Amino acid sequence: MALLDDLYSGAILEHSRRPRNHGEPESYDLAQEGINPGCGDELTLYLRVVDGSLATVAFNGQGCAISQAAASLMTTAVKGRPAAYASALAASFKAMLQGGAAAEELGESRVLQGIAKLPARVKCATLPWLTLEVALQRLGFEPRAS
Ligand code: ZN
Repeated sequence: MALLDDLYSGAILEHSRRPRNHGEPESYDLAQEGINPGCGDELTLYLRVVDGSLATVAFNGQGCAISQAAASLMTTAVKGRPAAYASALAASFKAMLQGGAAAEELGESRVLQGIAKLPARVKCATLPWLTLEVALQRLGFEPRAS
């Protein structure tokens, strides 16, 4: 199981143990819950938008190491970025987990590319990004067509 060994080492393990942008922030515009019932992953995403950019991106939640690491990685990828850019990144991430190329803009989130070969875990890795898309929609940003 070399692939699984890879997935549970390095950046994924590190982010799951020490998630970035973790915990409810003092102020935010929106809290969006996301659930992956198949695995039991739960996530609350907090967003604050200033001048069209994601000034605050943080999360709380519990679940498997992949979902927690993916959430941590997602927050670092989109924090401080324009909402439209974040929406485009979500589309890129989903495409990567459907077997597509790993867009360079995804940065460290590319470590999750191997999950595409583990269909049972794809929903764990995409949960944070799907939750982000719902949150952006609720804030009035249209998802990017993909
Ligand atoms: Zn999971």
